[in-house]
Amino acid sequence: MRHRLTVPSAAAAFLLLAVPASAAEATPGAPGIGDSYYPDYGNGGYDVSHYDLRLTYQPPTDRLEGTATVVATATQDLSRFNLDFALEVREVLVGGKKAAFATSGDHELEITPAAPIDSGRPFTVVVRYRGTPSKVQVKGYTAWLRTPDGGVAANEPEAAWWWFPSNDHPLDKATYDVSVAVPDGTQAISNGTLQSTTSRLGWTRYSWRSNRPQATYLATLAVGKFDITTDTTANGLPVINAYSKDLGDNAGAARASVERTAEVADWLSGVFGPYPFNALGGYVPNVGTSYALETQTRPFYSPRQFANGSNVSVVVHELAHQWYGDSVSVKDWRDIWVNEGFARYAQWLWSEKEGEGTAQELADYVYAQHPAEDAFWTVEPGDPGPDNQFHAAVYDRGAIALQALRNEVGDEDFFAILKGWPTERRYGNGSVRDFEAYAEKVSGRPLGALFDTWLFTASKPSAPAARANGIRAGGGADAGAGAAPRPKSWRAIHATDTVHGSR
Ligand SMILES: [Zn+2]
Repeated sequence: MRHRLTVPSAAAAFLLLAVPASAAEATPGAPGIGDSYYPDYGNGGYDVSHYDLRLTYQPPTDRLEGTATVVATATQDLSRFNLDFALEVREVLVGGKKAAFATSGDHELEITPAAPIDSGRPFTVVVRYRGTPSKVQVKGYTAWLRTPDGGVAANEPEAAWWWFPSNDHPLDKATYDVSVAVPDGTQAISNGTLQSTTSRLGWTRYSWRSNRPQATYLATLAVGKFDITTDTTANGLPVINAYSKDLGDNAGAARASVERTAEVADWLSGVFGPYPFNALGGYVPNVGTSYALETQTRPFYSPRQFANGSNVSVVVHELAHQWYGDSVSVKDWRDIWVNEGFARYAQWLWSEKEGEGTAQELADYVYAQHPAEDAFWTVEPGDPGPDNQFHAAVYDRGAIALQALRNEVGDEDFFAILKGWPTERRYGNGSVRDFEAYAEKVSGRPLGALFDTWLFTASKPSAPAARANGIRAGGGADAGAGAAPRPKSWRAIHATDTVHGSR
């Protein structure tokens, strides 16, 4: 490959020609994108713009095979680069030419193209692969969920390794075409809009398109026997929901919850601004897990979320993530509060709207419920550590932080902030400190002390500190749960606490 001669002056061009050939300058892309919790997640040296996945899946054997075409642009002179992947690779081509490849680490696929790739140059990688994802263990587990009639990829932060090669980090978003052939009578569910279904020789191919920037962990695939419902929102967006035919006693409650998706998304638009994507829905496969996940445009719900009857609160949580988590994603996994604090607070706002307890009452209750010696307070929601990334404190203390912010800046500025952030950062990323700076900008107030108190202190904020932020702390920081009455919505919200307890 040749350097593009974009250097303006002849002297500079001469210097460029005088240096060694690009093969000597090009270096390997980093095996990680630089995440503080997961140093080997994602990769350096390139940026993906599109994934095209053309797959075949056989439910009886859990056999997945196919071809991924990854469209990317080099961000350095690359002698070699990595994708994150765990299945068996049969062949790799870069720019149509066979490339050498090797595996390393837990999930690294190292690709050496026939010639180095210049910085700024677009390139295309074709990876042919196959495997039995439920049998492939990385770090001692598989994120692929096997069901009696198929399998599901939905997990956080690891999910993609078991079904497509990727730059596996929310910093590198891309669009997706996911086309999966399954035996007739079986369905394949993914993100976005269903472009076509075609049937031939006993196989049906489902072709899905997700054409807004999407993080790798938010890409999902579910194969199984589903009842699919379709509808259109008042604004004309397609709604596609899918329910396993085998949900048993949970079938009614699952529908009574997930069928309210359009209503909930419409309500959330009033809180967070216009819905950021062009499709919506949800799916409930017959998995034995208990969590739910905000997979883009089409959240995943475990049947167990509906074991006690309908639970609209979990639908509120996952749809809130479409703004906070999906459209605006973490910069680094330590920023998980910008996802979970807001999704939990949306559940509190829904409770407020439904007359089942205000967000203030829920904040007061959570504060009183956990005595000072409770380990709950040792987790800092603003930087919980990888082992506590999905700890209840990230959700509940994280939501108290938002109530404290609301009390500090007043409803007008608070709701302007909630709407403004997803608009300003749409399809991008943001950190906890970025949000703090944004809230300071909108409100014109210094907020460092408030954020430090609720997100970056490894102990229970004192009663005076809580009261200063409008949290009703009764007889001191040790006041028991009796100090604040339990809001009616608490049970349903608490039942969603397994939301990301994924493994
Ligand atoms: Zn969540």
